[in-house]
Amino acid sequence: MINQSFSLRITVHFHHGTFGKIMEDKITKQTSQVFDILRQVFGFESFRPNQEEIIKNILNKKDVFAVMPTGGGKSLCYQLPAKIMKGTTVVISPLISLMKDQVDAALENGISAAFINSSLPVAETASVFRRLRSNSLNLLYIAPERFAMTGFFETLKTVPISLFAVDEAHCISEWGHDFRPDYLSLSNIVKSFPSVAIAAFTATATQKVQDDIIVKLGLRSPFTVRASFNRPNLFYRVESKRGLGEQILELLRRHASESGIIYRTTRDSVTELADMLNGKGVRALPYHAGLTQEERKKNQEAFNRDEIDVITATIAFGMGIDKSNVRFVIHADLPKNIEGYYQETGRAGRDGEPAECVLFFGREDIPRIKYFIDQATDENERSVATDKLNQMVRYASHNVCRRRQLLAYFGEKYAEHNCGACDICTGTVQKADITIDAQKFMSAISRTEQRFGIMHIIDIVTGADTKRIRELGHHSIKTFGAGKDKDKHHWRFIADELLAQELISQDGDRYPVLKITAKGKKVLFGNEKVIGLKREDAEKKRRSGKGTEFEAYDESLFERLRALRKGLADEQSVPPYIIFSDKTLHEMCRRYPSSLPDMAEISGVGAAKLEHYGDVFTKVIKTYLEENPGVSIPKKRPDDTEAVRDSSKTKGETVEKTLELFRQGLSIEEITKERNLAASTITGHMEKLIMDGYDINIDRLIEPSKRNEIEKLFQSLGSMQLYPVVEHFKGTVSYDEARLVRACLRRGKE
Ligand code: ADP
Ligand code: MG
Ligand code: ZN
Repeated sequence: MINQSFSLRITVHFHHGTFGKIMEDKITKQTSQVFDILRQVFGFESFRPNQEEIIKNILNKKDVFAVMPTGGGKSLCYQLPAKIMKGTTVVISPLISLMKDQVDAALENGISAAFINSSLPVAETASVFRRLRSNSLNLLYIAPERFAMTGFFETLKTVPISLFAVDEAHCISEWGHDFRPDYLSLSNIVKSFPSVAIAAFTATATQKVQDDIIVKLGLRSPFTVRASFNRPNLFYRVESKRGLGEQILELLRRHASESGIIYRTTRDSVTELADMLNGKGVRALPYHAGLTQEERKKNQEAFNRDEIDVITATIAFGMGIDKSNVRFVIHADLPKNIEGYYQETGRAGRDGEPAECVLFFGREDIPRIKYFIDQATDENERSVATDKLNQMVRYASHNVCRRRQLLAYFGEKYAEHNCGACDICTGTVQKADITIDAQKFMSAISRTEQRFGIMHIIDIVTGADTKRIRELGHHSIKTFGAGKDKDKHHWRFIADELLAQELISQDGDRYPVLKITAKGKKVLFGNEKVIGLKREDAEKKRRSGKGTEFEAYDESLFERLRALRKGLADEQSVPPYIIFSDKTLHEMCRRYPSSLPDMAEISGVGAAKLEHYGDVFTKVIKTYLEENPGVSIPKKRPDDTEAVRDSSKTKGETVEKTLELFRQGLSIEEITKERNLAASTITGHMEKLIMDGYDINIDRLIEPSKRNEIEKLFQSLGSMQLYPVVEHFKGTVSYDEARLVRACLRRGKE
């Protein structure tokens, strides 16, 4: 279908006549070939934005310059043509670790690929060169320093080269944050291979870097693509920092046994956080520049292979992460600027599935960053850095869609009124008239002659009984205790909002005191109103609001497929996401493909993967379906079914219905029959109800002694994964039972 409509679309641009006809045929043929390969080799049904145009230009031997966000699908843009064109496509890629994963991923798809870099033993390097000379490589990945070695260009000249692809091309720019001097030798490609096209790819958004790349590589009026930087599957959220450890743990509970990155500023805090998490049973490892290269590599590898769930890291961690199933990125400290922040959060959700980016924002981080900025000797540098920091602070404190603000930073205007995937737009943060609170707070500042800091003012407003308050006699001022009906967090939030709106300011470096600005006086003594960000029921909304457009999947089945994937990955020592991405597994957990033809329909399952893994995965799914006879399998593809959309819309109601029946005394089995739904679906409802804190009599669901044993095992395993538990009991405990016990444990912790 797609082929036909596409070739029709293309042909209208051509004039009649023989030449037109020949071109027409050629292009139609090329188009259908491109789609065939997309489907058969990569297992994808359609292109992501810009991929198709880029591939067309590469096939027409035109230079290409493409700026696409992380996860935009840059690799496919050169891997697909590499499979079509005669000769070898040479990919210049900066990181050794990444190179191996990319080659493994290509091999998994049945594309002949190899890499050469310093980590490769001499004998193997020689063998790769032999394969290159015998023209049997579609893709050759090469580290840039190789181009500076004598004789390398000469060797390359003896073989047919179809394309030079420069990945992470910002490394060639001195303005880029990852500048690599050995990339400069790439400037010679154009001279040595005048007839071979070059395609450069980067995710760096700044214009300066972009211009520099084109000049340095000597691209010849390249076909240029600048994709939108919007990442619709990422949910952006800012939370006030208070009791960071607890806040992080709470978030991790929602992401149990999912992969995530937590960024912190200092090495010590990175190590401490990893220790703390391990103490709480979270599998976490640290990553920072103070570790030996060996340790860093080991920890990164463990993360890549799903051996640990969380990596705590400084910004040293990032380059060379192609892991596609990162489900959350947390910034536990304020980043220095939006550029870095966006790049770091961009590591979440490469597979296009929902992922969450949370910034824990505390004003106390600001002076720390200012301190570093002040170390710079160049005044211009200092002022640029200060501006960038202010933008970051505004991002965190203003009542404006986070996505809109992020994209605006990169010069992109976000047209939608409501992005649907940030805390501001989804109403997790609401607007509120906070005039009264603002007046109480500012009155306390005013009545103490603007000589005290935030914490002290909060103490006054909340009526705290501290020694300092008594000594200063502040318990007798009129505003003392005027806001004691609300807690300190609330007042901290008010303080932050007033600062962000410049109604008050902080004065003094070491012991900043609060002053009321001219604007603030209008609120205190006049009748100006203050509208701020209000947080209400944040927790409740967040749970249900997560990824509004994205569909639920069968989590019990997912656990099984995930375990299967991990086993297969380990056998071949490749990262699990290379076998199948989370996105692909999620789709399996919605459509339950139990035959090879059904499996071939799943996005991300190409011919090679179908052959390698089709049998084992369908087998597990088949078994699962036998064990859960009530599972209803959707007929249509999820992206065009109304049925699925409907089900998400009514999810709240359907959980309620289950609760109602349960309260009437029905067992899970009876509810399953009554509602004609799968047992695992009903268990899912119960799980949600338990975790949402409903009063559910667990004893009715699972025998207490059994529950006790399962609980103990969870605790001794130190992980919340279901698979090991079910495995341990050798058939006497079902996934659904383990899920229910896990839900109780999770609730118990809150
Ligand atoms: P980038 O290098 O731009 O950050 P990748 O090339 O690593 O992104 O691709 C990110 C993910 O998107 C990979 O898991 C890849 O398989 C997937 N992907 C790429 N193109 C498509 C497509 N057309 N349809 C579905 N998934 C795709
Ligand atoms: Mg990439
Ligand atoms: Zn928004």
